[in-house]
Amino acid sequence: MSSAFIYTSKFDDFSLGESHPFKPYRGTMVFELCYRYGLLDEPWIEVLEPEPASEEDMLEYHQREYVEALKSANTGSFDFTLLEYGLGTGDNPVFKGVYDFSLLVLGATLLGAALISSGKVNTVFSPVGGLHHAGYDHAEGFCYVNDIVIAIKRLLKGGMKKIIYVDIDAHHGNGVQDAFYDSDEVLFISLHQSGDTLYPWSGFENEMGNGKGLGYTVNVPLSEYTDDDTYVRAFEAVYTPLAEAFRPDCVVAQIGLDTLKKDPLTNLRLTNNGYIRVLEEIKKSCSKILALGGGGYSVPDVVRGWTLAWAVLNGLKPYDPYQGIISGNLTPFTQGPDELHDPPYHLAENIKLDLDAYIEKKIAYIRENIFPLHGIG
Ligand SMILES: [Zn+2]
Repeated sequence: MSSAFIYTSKFDDFSLGESHPFKPYRGTMVFELCYRYGLLDEPWIEVLEPEPASEEDMLEYHQREYVEALKSANTGSFDFTLLEYGLGTGDNPVFKGVYDFSLLVLGATLLGAALISSGKVNTVFSPVGGLHHAGYDHAEGFCYVNDIVIAIKRLLKGGMKKIIYVDIDAHHGNGVQDAFYDSDEVLFISLHQSGDTLYPWSGFENEMGNGKGLGYTVNVPLSEYTDDDTYVRAFEAVYTPLAEAFRPDCVVAQIGLDTLKKDPLTNLRLTNNGYIRVLEEIKKSCSKILALGGGGYSVPDVVRGWTLAWAVLNGLKPYDPYQGIISGNLTPFTQGPDELHDPPYHLAENIKLDLDAYIEKKIAYIRENIFPLHGIG
């Protein structure tokens, strides 16, 4: 067993803007919290610093004109022609180093893919990655480069024949869905707040793939207020049997944490307790996992959740070497790993009944229309 945490403090040099919710420095915060709680200490865990990817790497998926536009935006100066490529909007501002940032995100994810391909590393986490909305010829949804699509292409080229892409971000993984909609090599499974109520307004259960890819795109739309119990129930009902039937060579997981009830951009009601149960299911489903951060905008909560995710992926228990040693005024420093866990959250009974009815319909649709395509009776 071997694991790699991919991280560089160079991400801290980039900012999409003070008021923009996407904060690249989350990577450093996760690294520091993992370090503090002994989650990087094992001899089989490496912390690796990524190098920026190249223009050629980006062209493995993106349109040349788009890449040229992104490169020209690197100075940070806006030009109206960039709007055609989704650049210079509120969601995707032009900022100094936007191209360099994109290359670094891609470099980190591709390092992870190379480690998994080599067979030497089973578990990888790159917190500043998983930009699932970026399109072939445009930026959208805070995403300038689709590092996921390029990584999956690399993994396929490197000999992986069957890959599950699982996306537990609160938003639909539209950019990744578009790239593999006709493919049966990638089983795409996304759980997300329904497109009826949230950007990118897609990801309905009847989006199921096309041609030989029919049944290899699986979307589970969720109602507003979805809580831990409902989420975990949907995940276990859909992901677990599909993963058992598909038997992936590796899993690429976008583990966004904008599903939390405190997230300012979405309307789901998870705590990190439900999130961890889902991470455990993902870990059980395959021995090789490339995990990528994705969204999450209540920064301290995301950092705690991703620290727990790293612990789960590695079968470790966070511990604080200083706990109990220092007391008095320094107590907050020594409160220990319990601080990582959210308190339980309970919804009103009538809301729960509505949630149950909603999710049962979605699960039934997938059981009826997608499971038979995978031989699940
Ligand atoms: Zn998201």
